[in-house]
Amino acid sequence: MFGKIVRKIILFTAASASFICISCSSPALKSREAEASFIAMDTIMSITCYGKESADAVSAAKEEILRLDNLLSAESENSEVSLINSAGSGVLSEDGRKLMDFSLDIFSKTDGAFDVTVYPVMKLWGFTEGKLNVPTKSELNEVLNYCNSDNIRFDRDSGEIVLSDGQGIDFGGIAKGYASDRLMEIFEAYDIDSAIVTLGGNIQTYHTKPDGSEWNVAIRNPFDDAEEYVGSLRVSNLAVVTSGAYERFFVDEASGKTYHHIIDPSTGYPADKGIASVTIVSSSGILADALSTACYVMGIDNSIKYWHNKDDFDFIIVTSDREVYITKNISKKFTPSDSFNNVHIVQ
Ligand code: AMP
Ligand code: MG
Repeated sequence: MFGKIVRKIILFTAASASFICISCSSPALKSREAEASFIAMDTIMSITCYGKESADAVSAAKEEILRLDNLLSAESENSEVSLINSAGSGVLSEDGRKLMDFSLDIFSKTDGAFDVTVYPVMKLWGFTEGKLNVPTKSELNEVLNYCNSDNIRFDRDSGEIVLSDGQGIDFGGIAKGYASDRLMEIFEAYDIDSAIVTLGGNIQTYHTKPDGSEWNVAIRNPFDDAEEYVGSLRVSNLAVVTSGAYERFFVDEASGKTYHHIIDPSTGYPADKGIASVTIVSSSGILADALSTACYVMGIDNSIKYWHNKDDFDFIIVTSDREVYITKNISKKFTPSDSFNNVHIVQ
């Protein structure tokens, strides 16, 4: 009865084009370059490193992603998260503790817009198992009772976590950001000169490009039209994380309506605050990831208010009517595409 899930997990970096040029034009650099592309965390990942130990760094990075995927996936039966979800309690590993601690902090800072206990709602919509359907209001109201991070009991030191009845946790909104931060630590340990990683919609850059210039990261156009990108942003040592409805959605054939995977925890429905995509730029991958999801839920006005009280991130928000809002600190680094010329600088 309902439409199939449509996954579009394509986020390109304009930098990829530059990589090819750099490595082709310089055999010395090519010999120091290593790359890997693979599927993990339900998306396409690619890692590119430059440095003497680039091959070892790339394989350590890939191993780390696979380790975290096994630990954190709410969909694979034996992951730490799944075991806690089915038992209702357990002891989180060091990675799990960091993620939970961070999640609870962002939950309170965003007034619940980011909430890891969204899992039962994701499940009801069928996003976890691919059995997509539009729930009834009463079904949603029932699972919304379980969706509230305030009801988790968590001890940071021991890692002990106790969920309340019916609750479940889902780190899907921050796992990739946490993973990309870990990769930066690996690059540091291998004394890598330059690196860029693309984990689905999460991009994180390590240092500058090998030639010393900034990476040029393209922001994907969230609309289904001929323009490929909203624009491109020059960065170094930063994460650039985009959340958009286009990443994971389905069309309900009965009504023709589209439903996506970023849930507003106050309603249980896909967030619908007039936003097409949110890109967060920060030196912290996990923060960028959490806020890309949270700002999508909060809408433009609350995202601007939130940004005014913080100094650890910037954003590029594209609204459903193609307006682009960019915070002043990064506005000079951004080049919009022709069909996204309605750019507002947020002061
Ligand atoms: P992202 O693509 O980073 O915006 O994350 C979306 C994923 O985060 C979804 O697939 C869910 O696993 C999870 N999620 C959805 N809505 C929320 C929310 N309001 N708070 C926290 N996690 C969420
Ligand atoms: Mg996110």
